[in-house]
Amino acid sequence: MSSMRSKLPHVGTTIFTVMTNRARELGAINLAQGFPDFDAPGKLKDLVAYHVAAGHNQYAPMIGVAKLREQIAAKLGASYGRAPDAEKEITITLGATEAIFSTVLALVHPGDEVILFDPSYDSYEPAVILAGGTPIRIPLMPPSFTIDWQRVKDALSTKTRLVMINTPHNPVATIFRTQDLEILADLLRPTAALVLSDEVYEHMVFDGATHAGILTHAELASRGVAIFSFGKTMHATGWRVGYAVARADITREIRRVHQFNTFSIATPLQHAIADFLEAAPGHNASLAELYQRKRDLFLECLRGSRFSWKPAAGSYFQLLDFSAIAETSDVEFAERVLLEARVASIPISPFYANPPPIRALRFCFAKNDATLEEAAERLCSL
Ligand code: GLN
Repeated sequence: MSSMRSKLPHVGTTIFTVMTNRARELGAINLAQGFPDFDAPGKLKDLVAYHVAAGHNQYAPMIGVAKLREQIAAKLGASYGRAPDAEKEITITLGATEAIFSTVLALVHPGDEVILFDPSYDSYEPAVILAGGTPIRIPLMPPSFTIDWQRVKDALSTKTRLVMINTPHNPVATIFRTQDLEILADLLRPTAALVLSDEVYEHMVFDGATHAGILTHAELASRGVAIFSFGKTMHATGWRVGYAVARADITREIRRVHQFNTFSIATPLQHAIADFLEAAPGHNASLAELYQRKRDLFLECLRGSRFSWKPAAGSYFQLLDFSAIAETSDVEFAERVLLEARVASIPISPFYANPPPIRALRFCFAKNDATLEEAAERLCSL
């Protein structure tokens, strides 16, 4: 028994790392951890090489390279009709994970309550705990995983500091509609609560839907922090470049934490992304089509299987319901899929404080077509 007094005693290795390691050990196809098995755009890689050679190798400004913040402001203006102030309202972070962590540490005081929706992404709750806050976890129930707004209303109190939302949702691939934003804004109006909105899959929204992020809603935009990721949009999860967008006084607090957390983000990567955004303005808009096609290919190849599904509304994850195959828990079934079909996936119940019975697994379809076809063929054998 160790005498170490842990600040996060209930936290183990994340399910993403566990499943990725298991996939490696077994030589399985890894549809578990969310990352593409195809590369970032060639032009973007060339730009990184260019900026390294050009000597952009010392500390970047703490808040981020100016041109990148300006490109982001223009992009957000074009996408959501609200261009933030590049100087005062945008901060470049070490991936969305740092943006989430720095935001929570900056805004949540000991004793504050933070509303999370389960299944909640695994980094949310530890950030709240480290800030001394109390997570209030509201479950989304399968199979629809929709928000029960009455429960949110009941959970809100004078102690509520933050409500953390995620659209498109990881792991269950649902999306907010404009109406959800309106309900949330109505509920928050009489409170002092702020919103953290994790929108890293903003451009992966399918079947003609549009992304209903908080920047599309004046009131939520002004009481919120919207968090985005170039790892997702540039197919470069290993670069760890993301950003947080919030009104100036909130941003000032986030930067107070950010400057001592990661300080500043890789300089040549920021220059390269800035140039790429300028040179390839159509890139983001092409992502919905790319990923919708991959989702549809994967599902088409699964037609002969015993899984059932509702096509993902957003993100690059597809839930597959296995209730016609087994009555085991999702954790056990993920292990069976790994051993029998040699395909790694992610169970959903680890993202709940108190998981309801769930008969579905999450599969990442940000993969080459050949990978998806091979994985689906194996899944058909179950
Ligand atoms: N965001 C990735 C996913 O959902 C996981 C990243 C990680 O391993 N922390 O699969």
